[in-house]
Amino acid sequence: MKKEKPRIAFFDFACCEGCQLTVLQLEEKLLDLLDHVEVAAWRVAISGGSDAYDIAFCEGSISNREDEERLHRIRETAGTVVSLGTCASIGCHNALKNQWTGGEVLELVYGGEAGRFETLPARPVASVVPVDYQILGCPASLPEIEIVLKRILTGQPHPLPNNPVCVECKRNDNLCVLEKGVMCLGPVTRCGCDAICTSYGDACQGCRGLVDEPNLEAAVRVLTENHRHAIMDAVARGLRVDRERIRTWFSLYNGPDLQLEQEKTGHGP
Ligand code: SF4
Ligand code: SF4
Ligand code: SF4
Repeated sequence: MKKEKPRIAFFDFACCEGCQLTVLQLEEKLLDLLDHVEVAAWRVAISGGSDAYDIAFCEGSISNREDEERLHRIRETAGTVVSLGTCASIGCHNALKNQWTGGEVLELVYGGEAGRFETLPARPVASVVPVDYQILGCPASLPEIEIVLKRILTGQPHPLPNNPVCVECKRNDNLCVLEKGVMCLGPVTRCGCDAICTSYGDACQGCRGLVDEPNLEAAVRVLTENHRHAIMDAVARGLRVDRERIRTWFSLYNGPDLQLEQEKTGHGP
């Protein structure tokens, strides 16, 4: 008897939907994928859809009750749930709103109509329901999407890598952008993107979130005046890089509550 293909579905919550668009960039490989799965629901790619699915890719953050209930229903239906991208896995830019109260946010966005809406602090999908797989990146890394798809279909786990981007950067034999006076968050950012930005000479902005137990204080010391490379120092003086600016920079993907004082991990300089 012919084995039924697993049914996959994609769902979006508060986000820019860039991660789903990245999945579409699989292009011809999507056709290969269809040999192995059936697409049950995918709003950005197909019309219609079914409520019967086995694997749910969830993109975005949860920031209202309706989305929270919808996500719980997805979790009850799907045997496998994947948080797709940094919004869904750790919060990303959405979490920046959490530095204001719900009332302040509604007033800012809707002005006099604020009373007609409700909002909750933004939480990643992975904080609201248990997820079986996480894919990081803003947008999600295409090679990692492929790897995770294969692992799901072959029943293998996908533990997140816990090395900093610097490891992949060195593996690619890149010139460190710090040497050119470019600020880079790679030393404390979780790898898995093959150092895509730094390989093209750009800074790592930290879009995959922090490694476990990051030595943020050491990262700040590398980027601030007394400890940075001479070339970078000359550039950074013009940029006026200080602790608060670095904290804001890290907060973009790691949330507004991030504190830099996490030095006591025992493996920093
Ligand atoms: S992780 Fe980035 S690209 Fe993906 S949905 Fe969120 S904001 Fe968009
Ligand atoms: S460019 Fe950034 S990620 Fe690469 S080695 Fe330098 S600090 Fe690390
Ligand atoms: S190099 Fe940094 S910013 Fe670029 S994709 Fe990787 S983690 Fe994200």
